[in-house]
Amino acid sequence: MTDNEQWFSEICAEGGSAFSVKIREKLHDEQTGFQRIEVFATEKFGNLMVIGGRVMLTARDNFIYHEMLSHPALFSHPSPEQVVIIGGGDCGTLREVLKHGRVTGVLQVEIDERVTRLAEEFFPELCISNNDPRARFVFGDGIEWMQAAAPGSVDIIIVDSTDPLGPAEGLYTGAFYRDCRQVLGEQGILVQQSESPLYHMDLINPLHGKLRAAGFTEVRTLFFPQPSYPSGWWSATLAGRRNMSAAFREEDARSNRIPTRYYNAAIHRAAFTAPEFFQQALE
Ligand code: SAM
Repeated sequence: MTDNEQWFSEICAEGGSAFSVKIREKLHDEQTGFQRIEVFATEKFGNLMVIGGRVMLTARDNFIYHEMLSHPALFSHPSPEQVVIIGGGDCGTLREVLKHGRVTGVLQVEIDERVTRLAEEFFPELCISNNDPRARFVFGDGIEWMQAAAPGSVDIIIVDSTDPLGPAEGLYTGAFYRDCRQVLGEQGILVQQSESPLYHMDLINPLHGKLRAAGFTEVRTLFFPQPSYPSGWWSATLAGRRNMSAAFREEDARSNRIPTRYYNAAIHRAAFTAPEFFQQALE
């Protein structure tokens, strides 16, 4: 929704709130085979990408989300070589993953090629690693890709998808998590964007249950601020079969060999610390 062409607002019905940002101009508006994609130039948040009326990213605060969806999982695995990103068409998560020298291959499975093409045009800073020889791109449904993938062939799966609606709905199901468990190696970790801890406990609570039912013995949610998302507070949920906190390569994270603007070793530990209401809700 735009008002007098001055503001873009995302209304969050379930939270009874809205995020509004002052815009300079609309740069792009396209209905693809999967969704409507809009791009705006804003006054204070740089360029803004909107899919289906929902904020996907802004140039100003996307670094928090992309770093927290990547580095905690990668530093919780002893040797993350093969990584698969489901969704992530804006390529910001890919850029963060490729900062890790241990990574030998990253495959991005994005259902809508137009998202990547528009990211290259309006968010080139996110696409700076797209020509890295370790990166491969498939434009297709991540659910189907996971059904067909070889067992035990992947170390880290990152689900960087839109909200659990439309094409992304199937990415929040027990069937998908069972396929992920098959595809992950013994030490493998699945990480998924899990919405707002304030607004979406009705998603996060059953998500933990479905991940455990799929055979993941260790399920942990981390929290981070995301000003342009509903409630300004977001989360990612990690699942594995090993004690991820014990496996945390803290010295590596502390070494700062991976340039970041939000993530560091202390943030890693703090982000996994769950607030009281959250712990009680899960119990
Ligand atoms: N950070 C954003 C968020 O939290 O809402 C997500 C950004 S990323 C652009 C989301 C991507 O997931 C979109 O490009 C969308 O096309 C893709 N996507 C949705 N469902 C998918 C599926 N089943 N398989 C692969 N990609 C999918």
